Amino acid sequence: MIKLEKKYDVIIVGTGVAGLNCALNVSPERSVLVICKDSPDKSDSYLAQGGICRLPEEADYQSYFDDTMRAGHYENNPAAVEAMIRGSQEVIDDLVACGVDFARESDGSLAYTKEGGHSRPRICFHEDTTGREITTRLMAAARARKNIIIVPYVTMLDIICDKNACYGIVAKDGKNGRLYRLFADYTVLASGGVGGVFENSTNFRVLTGDALAICLNHGVPVDHINYIQIHPTTLYTKKKGRRFLISESVRGEGAVLLDKDFQRFTDELKPRDIVTAAILQQMKRDGTDHVWLDMRPIPREEVLGHFPDIVRHCLTEGYDVFRECIPVVPAQHYFMGGVRSDTRGATTLPRLYAVGETCCNGVHGKNRLASNSLLESLLFAKRAAQDINSGYCPIDMAAAKAAEGALDLAKYSNPSKLLREYKAEVLAAIKAAASGEGQRPPFDLPAENSPSDPQYKGDNA
Ligand SMILES: Cc1cc2nc3c(=O)[nH]c(=O)nc-3n(C[C@H](O)[C@H](O)[C@H](O)COP(=O)(O)OP(=O)(O)OC[C@H]3O[C@@H](n4cnc5c(N)ncnc54)[C@H](O)[C@@H]3O)c2cc1C
Repeated sequence: MIKLEKKYDVIIVGTGVAGLNCALNVSPERSVLVICKDSPDKSDSYLAQGGICRLPEEADYQSYFDDTMRAGHYENNPAAVEAMIRGSQEVIDDLVACGVDFARESDGSLAYTKEGGHSRPRICFHEDTTGREITTRLMAAARARKNIIIVPYVTMLDIICDKNACYGIVAKDGKNGRLYRLFADYTVLASGGVGGVFENSTNFRVLTGDALAICLNHGVPVDHINYIQIHPTTLYTKKKGRRFLISESVRGEGAVLLDKDFQRFTDELKPRDIVTAAILQQMKRDGTDHVWLDMRPIPREEVLGHFPDIVRHCLTEGYDVFRECIPVVPAQHYFMGGVRSDTRGATTLPRLYAVGETCCNGVHGKNRLASNSLLESLLFAKRAAQDINSGYCPIDMAAAKAAEGALDLAKYSNPSKLLREYKAEVLAAIKAAASGEGQRPPFDLPAENSPSDPQYKGDNA
């Protein structure tokens, strides 16, 4: 068992692509602790199917920018969008250098696929398991680094801070039950989205927005908490647990959506919110629990080569995609809101950074364009590490100890209860923001029957 030190140079909360890429870009002479709530492979990064966007050529810049802004209903931060697109080639180069095996054309150049909302193919992929390929390679690289220590089953319960700065975190070790107060010169929140608060979600159930609740409690601004993305196509099932995604690139490659009479009813390649609305409307009209997705327009070889995991999973659920349509239904998928951060990942509280799905730097606006998330997470996590490296200066230990001394330790005596309270706070904040906008979210709130204690039961969904 790893015994945690009292002080690290950098603490990173989360082992998804954002947390790992941040760790890998912190200077090797700095000590870095990376923690995660469950096992390291229980991150949404691991689940990503479709791929990761890359600007294929300069001539595509304006079109990629316009597609991202249009999908986001022009509520995006244009500077963040520009930074993401301009940084996309560097991100893919870094991943290739790390050993990521993207699909290639016969001449060795990167192969690109297309998804909804994109006006041309610009998505790099590895079969339909792009996230697993990327996360596994980043994890191996991080584990090989002497300055990085990765400790699973450790849950951040709070940050240690005063109004001037963040000095570290309070965390509970789920294995030995110990409560730690850990100091850091810089703390990075890379703790993913909020799918665990919804009953029907493609996300791991451990992702319940703890960082958001913690920031709300400390007055660190959280933006657009009600900007929740619903994915149009998850495999319909009556079973409980995480919903299995049917990647948008399936539609990008030619699959079509059909109503109860097996007739097409929408343009499958519109942005996600539009396709989701069309499906929900059709279900209402038809009085059904799902619509159908027909993958048979895609050539068999293409399906086998590009979507083997989807084919396998559908078979285990009793559907042969080569012979029949599969039932699909929308489910919660992604969180566009989050802890307010700038394009360096900095929050409004000095020494506290937020990157990946936990943060909101405005890049996605009101609705994320497909396959922009891995890219955004990787790029701005690297930026955060670079910002830490360039301005590095240690914390004032006297102030850190005073902030530690001001903690009410009784608050952490029952971590399961505290995490349930955080979850309820996040849900309440989402509802309040949604009703303030006169919005009726097209998804089921709340998730009363979701696991009451995501930390200690784990997630086998
Ligand atoms: C099924 C699916 C398919 C997707 N496909 C794509 C795709 O093709 N392309 C794309 O761009 N995006 C895709 N996405 C979205 C993308 O995968 C995520 O947005 C992205 O990976 C988020 O990365 P992250 O590092 O911010 O968070 P995550 O990868 O979710 O990692 C979060 C980490 O935080 C840890 N954590 C959370 N709370 C705490 C706490 N209190 N204490 C300690 N640790 C904590 C978790 O244990 C985990 O390690 C998909 C998402 C899903 C669910």
